[in-house]
Amino acid sequence: MDQFSTEEACRKYLVKVRWDGGFLCPHCAHTSGWTHAREIIRCKKCHRDVSVTAGTVFHNRHLPLRIWFQAIWSVVSQKNGVSALGLSKSLGIKNQKTGWNLLRIIRTGMVRTGRELLNGLVEVDEVFIGGVKPGKRGRGALGKVLVLVAVEDKGEKGFGRIRIEIIPDASAATLKGAIKKMVEPGSKIRTEQWKGYTSSALEGYEHIVLEKQSLAPGEDPTPLVHRVASLLKRWLLGTHQGGVRPTHLRAYLDEFIFRFNRRNSGKRGKLFHRLIQGMIQVKKQSKG
Ligand SMILES: [Zn+2]
Repeated sequence: MDQFSTEEACRKYLVKVRWDGGFLCPHCAHTSGWTHAREIIRCKKCHRDVSVTAGTVFHNRHLPLRIWFQAIWSVVSQKNGVSALGLSKSLGIKNQKTGWNLLRIIRTGMVRTGRELLNGLVEVDEVFIGGVKPGKRGRGALGKVLVLVAVEDKGEKGFGRIRIEIIPDASAATLKGAIKKMVEPGSKIRTEQWKGYTSSALEGYEHIVLEKQSLAPGEDPTPLVHRVASLLKRWLLGTHQGGVRPTHLRAYLDEFIFRFNRRNSGKRGKLFHRLIQGMIQVKKQSKG
């Protein structure tokens, strides 16, 4: 809060994050410009002035950058993140909808940073999450949703990175598509015995099937996935009180993955930087 106590300090930081690798005109994609004012560059080709927030989610919002930065810091500095209500309270925002919107936009920056595919030995399994019964409290809340979880098995080091895809069913075709989105071809994939994990679904991968008879009684063939799934369920119920709507589940999963894959990153400042980097790449939508 000391470092970003003024709008100017925030803008300077954005200039560094956005243009450190060079200027890129959002209008004509030209790569050189004159520094016109402190945070404005004039494109040498189309002569338009480009402010550091132009075309990004930070542009022309009613909130000062200072509040954005504080919100992003709350998200990365707290181990389990914040709920919309908690965020609104800590920022002194009266309208909870504003806090909710802030979080929604901040999450869009988490997607960009998690596109690399998993590799090495990867455990894959499908699990149900959610399952709150419809009723007064659970209205609009998450029903049972099937997801495919992929976890890198780092042996003695335990978990590597994770990815999660929402899937409509556990058919071979669905599993094939979801695995392709998450795991690098050529990797080893470990699954339990299930008819969906056919040789065609696992084409391009080395498939390790744990056959039931090779397991000790009660032994879990995919323990890493199940531990990640239980952490995910706890996070959805704890931080978000289970109040996640199906349409927003993808965004929550992105936040969970972002957090999980950086759980050992002791440097919160680095996370903050990565998140702002992700956010500034997200093109502002015409609405909202
Ligand atoms: Zn231009």
